[in-house]
Parts: sequence; structure tokens; C-alpha cells
Amino acid sequence: GHAPESDLAIARRARLEPILPLAEARLGLAAEDLVPFGHHRAKLSLPLLQRLKDRPRGRLVLVSAITPTPAGEGKTTACVGLVDALSRLGISALACLREPSLGPVFGMKGGAAGGGRAQVVPMEAINLHFNGDFHAVTAAHNLLAALLDNHLYWGNALGIDPARVVWSRVLDLNDRSLRRVRIGLGEVERESTFEITAASEIMAILCLAEDLADLERRLGRIVVAWRRDDTPVTAADLGAVGAMSALLRDALAPNLVQTLEHTPVLIHGGPFANIAHGCSSLTATRAALALGEVVVTEAGFGADQGLEKFIDIKSRQSGLFPDAVVIVVTLRALRFHGGASREAMHRPDLAALIAGLDNLVRQVAVARAFGLEPVVALNAFPDDSEAERERLAACCVELGVALAHCDHWARGGEGALALARRVLERLEEGGGEAAALYADGTPVETALQVVATRLYGASGVELSPEARATLRRLEGAGYGQLPVCIARTQYSFSGDPADGGLVKGHRLRVRELRLSAGAGFVVAVCGRLMTLPGLPREPAALGIGLDAEGNITGLA
Ligand code: ADP
Ligand code: MG
Repeated sequence: GHAPESDLAIARRARLEPILPLAEARLGLAAEDLVPFGHHRAKLSLPLLQRLKDRPRGRLVLVSAITPTPAGEGKTTACVGLVDALSRLGISALACLREPSLGPVFGMKGGAAGGGRAQVVPMEAINLHFNGDFHAVTAAHNLLAALLDNHLYWGNALGIDPARVVWSRVLDLNDRSLRRVRIGLGEVERESTFEITAASEIMAILCLAEDLADLERRLGRIVVAWRRDDTPVTAADLGAVGAMSALLRDALAPNLVQTLEHTPVLIHGGPFANIAHGCSSLTATRAALALGEVVVTEAGFGADQGLEKFIDIKSRQSGLFPDAVVIVVTLRALRFHGGASREAMHRPDLAALIAGLDNLVRQVAVARAFGLEPVVALNAFPDDSEAERERLAACCVELGVALAHCDHWARGGEGALALARRVLERLEEGGGEAAALYADGTPVETALQVVATRLYGASGVELSPEARATLRRLEGAGYGQLPVCIARTQYSFSGDPADGGLVKGHRLRVRELRLSAGAGFVVAVCGRLMTLPGLPREPAALGIGLDAEGNITGLA
């Protein structure tokens, strides 16, 4: 046979529909509802967003997964396949996805807009500079940093303790040499850090804000530093909110694009799934629910992390709860959790698969802990064996969950029709009302206990002395009852990736707590937290360029 066509080659060959007629035909939108960027992408206008806020809502489908392998198990492609399949069934459906960061684009290859025949286009535009949103977040974040250091320079009237500045600078690239820096050499010198833009609290804020007024309120609440007496200094104290809001105004509007099959997709916002909640923006979700009958969106990593954060953070704050959940599974991930190596996981191995099924059992239990009955989507690969597929099917029967075999990566929406039918059945049955795992106002340590013991199979939580000291300070300043955002490796239920996807009975060790007061959560860091990734030995950037006609080549 021949090598499969690259994602970029498939995307390049696609015939895209002009975005304004597409928005009119599929969503009933007029030209003035959109702010076009070229012919194939547009932002929804801010007045449109305002108007859509109180429209009757469609149903929300959240796509999550079992614990992933480093290869990624196919949540984004499943979202794309599923909306295309729903469209084929005559449903008015939209997907809401995250925007790619330049970090992974130039670092590790990996499609951020789906792959194969389940892709969103125009792929190059989505992967590079997409309508300026990441640049706006970067600029707003760094403006706040500049105002803060300027305040220190001009006499520090707010009494900031320069050793307790907690606001970094950001850039949207992988660059490990900037992780720890000394700034202000010869001026107000201090040690500081850089993070990737996706890890900026402002990205999380952009993705949780209801509207411009809420954006401004949240920006004002950002804690940038502490005084010696343990009182917080905020962005509002520095007078930074107006200018930051001006920079972010246009970025608050979701970006409309299309799948290869011309289904509308909103791609907007890209918060990290560890230090933040990891989902696309609330403005996009709300607009999509007003515009379509079914909205499909993705929650980062496995259900224990993505689904948990979606509901305990985004749903809690917005009141928008998923109506159905899809758990994507690959046989290679089950083999991997059952002990197969990263090389061997690509070959059939019934014994490893059977051992690994416990991960699926646990992720199904996670969905049920939130009151949701999941549909399991098997993302098919050519190396899947019949015996393994049958064993997975038997496991799903035992669990009482619906299973759909999917090959949308190879066949587009047609390959996800079975999944779409299962999801529609779930939506029709209704039943379970999703709810947060712990009540609003639960103390941080209790919330950590609940998530760790109920979802991670841990026996308890241990706070490091540093985390405990921070907790006392947060409680003293009135932040002790915010929801928690647990920053943990995606490869295990513990803080250590080496523990794998089956670990139980461990103590969840919290090394550090970080406040995101504007986003509205406390980040609990378990294990090593990387907020500015490095480039691999062979960065994807080395294979990216332009051809003689000026087309971009080498994007994953
Ligand atoms: P996730 O969103 O869970 O990280 P993606 O949907 O982005 O995963 O998929 C990860 C990568 O694997 C992408 O490059 C995608 O094109 C590829 N991929 C997904 N499913 C398949 C499949 N069935 N066969 C081959 N490649 C696939
Ligand atoms: Mg994804």
C-alpha cells in the first residue's frame, strides 16, 4: 500500500465554503453578525453574542477519554467526526474546540484541529496566529507585568513585597531557557519566570468570562503579588484593568470555521488542561448552544481530569452542564495501561488489553459520579484485533454502557454515524442531571479529598508544608473556598506518570497551591508542573516551511 495522506495534504485539497454563506445557511446568521477574517474564518460579533445569551439552549455533549498515552487517543477527531455525523443525520450541530498553541505546533507534531478526514479547516490559519487571540492574551498578560514592575520602579506605593510577586511573563512558544530569569538588571532586579500563553491566568479568564463586563471584573481580581502582611495586591490595585480589557475585547469573540464536511465549528481559547481547566471558551459554548440543536465539545485528558474540571469549574461557574458524555477509548491505550510498552502497544495483545480495561471501568465510574451515563467510542486503528474488540464489547455490556465503533479518522462523518445515534439515544432518554462533585463554598482541602478519593481511587491527600502555608494565607485573604483545579500528570491517577493508568490506594501529594482569583479557582500542583515546555531534540519546527508558491508545508 502507500503511505496515508498527511493531514495538511487532506486539508489543502478540501474545498472550503465561504464562511458568510455557510453561516447564513447553517446558522441563520446575517453578514453583520460576523467579523470576517479573509474568506474562510470569522469572529462572531459582540452584539450577536449579547443577543444569543438568552436564546433557548441546545444540548451539550462533552467528549472525554480514558487515560491517554503520549500519542493522544482522539478526542478532537471524535468531536469533529461526531458533529459531522450529526449533521449527516439532519441535526443542526456545532463543535466547540480549543485553539492550538504555537508551542506544540513547533515542538511535537500533533494535530490540534483533528486529523485524517475528521479535521477543521483552514488548517494553517487555525494553527498559526489564529485571528490574533493568543497574541492579545500575551500582550494583556505582559502589560500587567510591565505595569507591576513599573510600579516597583516608581516607589512601590502599594507596598508590594518584591520577593512575593506571583505574576510571570508569557510567550506562545516552547522555550525552556526562559523558565527562570533575572529581570531588571541594574534597575529593580528580581527573579522571575516565563510561562506559555496557554498557562496564563488571562487565558483561563478569557475562557470563563460571560461577557465584557465579567471579563473586566475577573481581570480586576487577579492577584499579582502579596504584601509583607499577607494581604493581596490585584490588577485592579495597579489600575491595569481598562488597558487589558481594551487589548482583549476582540479576543473575547469566538472564531467560526468549518470541518472538511462544512459543519460549523467554533474554535476559541486554549487554556492549559493542567494549570487551568482546559476547555474552549464559555462565550463559544453559549453561542453554539443558542445556534444549534447539539453542541459537541472536548475536555482535556482523561475523564478524571477533563470531565471533572469541566463540571466542577466551568459548569459550576456558568450553569451549563453537559447533557451527555462520550469516553473515547483506543485499544492501544488499554494495552498500554495493561502493561504493554510504548512500542508494543501498537500490536494486538489480549492479555494486556484485559488488564488495561480497569482504566475504562474507572473512567466510566467518573462520569457516573457526576450523574452522567457515558457512551464509549472506540477510535479504531488498523492493528485492532477482533478478539480484543470483542473483549471490550463484553466489558461494556458488563458495565451497562453503550459502545460505538468509530472510524471517522479514515472516513469522516460517515465513520461516526453509530456514535451519533448512540449519543442521540442518550440525549432522548434524558435521565441523569449532571451535578458538581462538591458543593460551592467547600474548603479547598475538603474539595481535594473528595476528588482524590472519589475519582482518583486515592486513600487521601497530603499537603506539603509549603502548600499548607499557602493555604493558610489564602484562607486568611478569603480565597479558601474556591473550587480546586488539580494540576496532575495526564498519564496516571497519581502525581507521578510512572504510576500508570491503574494505580489505586495512593496518597495524592500536593506540592504547591497557586491562586487564580480572576479565573475563580485554586490550582493544586501535584508532581512536576511544567508551565513553559521545552522543545524536543528534533522539533517539528525543523520540518516546517514554504513551498515555491508560498504554501505552508510540514504542519502536522
Ligand atoms: P486528543 O484530542 O485526544 O489529544 P486527537 O484527536 O488530536 O487526540 O488525535 C491525536 C492524533 O492522533 C492526531 O494527530 C490524529 O490525527 C491522530 N489520530 C486520531 N485517531 C486516529 C486514528 N483512528 N488513526 C490514525 N490516527 C489517528
Ligand atoms: Mg485534543
